[in-house]
Order: sequence, then C-alpha cells, then structure tokens
Amino acid sequence: MIELSNIEKRFGDAVVLKDISVRIPEGSVTALVGPSGGGKSTLLRCINLLEIPTSGAIRLGEETLSFVPGKRTSWQAIQKIRRQTGMVFQNFQLFPHQTAIENVMEGLVTVLKWPRERARERATELLTKVGMAHKTDAWPATLSGGQQQRVAIARALAPSPRVLLCDEPTSALDPELSAEVIDVLGQLAREGTTMVMATHDLRLASKIANDVVFLEAGSVVETGSARTIFTAPERERTKRFISTIN
Ligand code: ADP
Ligand code: MG
Repeated sequence: MIELSNIEKRFGDAVVLKDISVRIPEGSVTALVGPSGGGKSTLLRCINLLEIPTSGAIRLGEETLSFVPGKRTSWQAIQKIRRQTGMVFQNFQLFPHQTAIENVMEGLVTVLKWPRERARERATELLTKVGMAHKTDAWPATLSGGQQQRVAIARALAPSPRVLLCDEPTSALDPELSAEVIDVLGQLAREGTTMVMATHDLRLASKIANDVVFLEAGSVVETGSARTIFTAPERERTKRFISTIN
C-alpha cells in the first residue's frame, strides 16, 4: 500500500502539486489522468523521489517519509523508498550500448550485486514474461518502440519493486505497438502488480486501471473507481474530459 498525504510540490514560486492525498492499495492499478501540465509526471516522480515534495508525507510499505520545507531529506531515506519502485518512461530510455538482456540485468548486477548468472536467469524469465525471449541479444536500436518498451518494463520489474510507476508508457507508440504494451501491462495487472500510471491514453486507463485520479492544474479534481469515473463521473470537468474518449 502506498499513501500520499497532503503532498505539495513547488518549483520556485510555482505550485505544481497542491495538497494531494491519494491511497494506492496493494495489487491495484491507479491511473493518473488529466490534461497536459496537470502534474501527473511530477506526482509520479514524487513517489520515487526523483522530485522531493516540498511538504507532505509518503508511505510506501513500512517506510514513511515526511517532508518539511527547507529541510533536506537524507539520501538513505530516499533510497529506502526509491528501491521499492520501478519506473517506465515514455521514451523507454534503454541503455543503447547494452543488449536487451543486459539492460534487464544491469540494476541487479551493479546495484543489487547479484552474481551475473543469477541475474541472467531472472532477466530471461522477465523477457519471456513480456514476450521478448526471442530478442534477448538484440540491441535496442534494432527493436520496435513496442519491443523497447516491453524490455523497459522487464528492466523495471527486475528487482521486484513493490510498485511499478509508468509515465505515459504508450504515448510514443502508434496504436498497434501501443496495443502490445497495453497487453503486457494488462497481464501484469491481472497478476496483481501494483501500478501507478500517468497517462492521457484513456483507452489504456479504462482497460487496466482499478482506480482513477483526475488531476488538473496540480489538484485532484475527482478520484474514484475506474468504472465510476469512466461511466458516471460526478464533476462536470471530469465528464468533459472523459467524453473525449469516443
Ligand atoms: P503532466 O505530466 O500532467 O503533463 P507535469 O507534471 O509534467 O504535468 O507538469 C506540471 C507542471 O509543472 C507544468 O506546469 C510544468 O511546466 C511544471 N514543471 C514540471 N517540472 C518542472 C521543473 N523541473 N521545473 C519547473 N516547472 C516544472
Ligand atoms: Mg507528463
């Protein structure tokens, strides 16, 4: 379970996240949706502490971290939270000079100090899970965008994070390649992977999210089950946004 309490994020004078409180139950998929610039990416980056919230608190499993303006957060505390997360980016961000399997093994070997053989076994298992076993030794540049993203998902899952964070995982892909990534994420969701996904792909959100958080201008406009938000949202603003699906 992840709990975000009263998260605020400022960049200089700009308040980019305003008093965000969200609970993410274990084994569920939460979609962060809303217009561009609403704060989806920043909120995701606050969960893995690529951005340090200005104030508020984050609980991830047994770790709780509170943020106080002007007070530095210790590196050890950041690492305790960050190590429980895996991140998938819009532009895949595979290491270009490493093959698919080396990308998946990298963190296990360099950060977690696993023996290479054990890391290779784990990476093979994950590449199989995402349907990429046939491309183990391929270079990223030779893979389609959908294939690169599937390798990136395997890499993010390698250290068995408590939560998988995905920032616009299908936005760089055309519909066909998008579909293969949605299939993989859907399969992970069915297996009970906890995920938080920022997306303006409402097709993706409606297919696999259990819960939806609608963010606009740094504030939560509405939050609820995906079924409710996609079929009977309460707020006019959410209704207008959802009506763009069809
Ligand atoms: P979304 O992902 O929903 O499109 P973002 O989280 O990327 O929204 O951005 C929310 C707001 O925060 C935007 O106004 C953006 O310009 C601002 N922002 C994001 N990162 C920074 C930064 N590093 N410095 C200053 N402003 C930022
Ligand atoms: Mg974004």
